[in-house]
Amino acid sequence: MKHATLTLIATLALLCGSASAQIKKDAKVYICTGTYAKSYHLKRTCKALESCKGEVKQIKMGEAIKKGRHLCKYCK
Ligand SMILES: [Zn+2]
Repeated sequence: MKHATLTLIATLALLCGSASAQIKKDAKVYICTGTYAKSYHLKRTCKALESCKGEVKQIKMGEAIKKGRHLCKYCK
């Protein structure tokens, strides 16, 4: 039983690892400072940024994630 639990944890860790493989904390990403902006972008030319009501800022991916931002659906 204990072995099965450990296997499950190992599998989950592996799955999470592959899911976050694209996260590079020091990579530069773009965010919109508008009130309703909740995501970050890999490209400055992303079409979601065209409708940004605020300012477009370049920050590190790690900082964007800390601010609770998630990857934009167009940039995925
Ligand atoms: Zn985007």
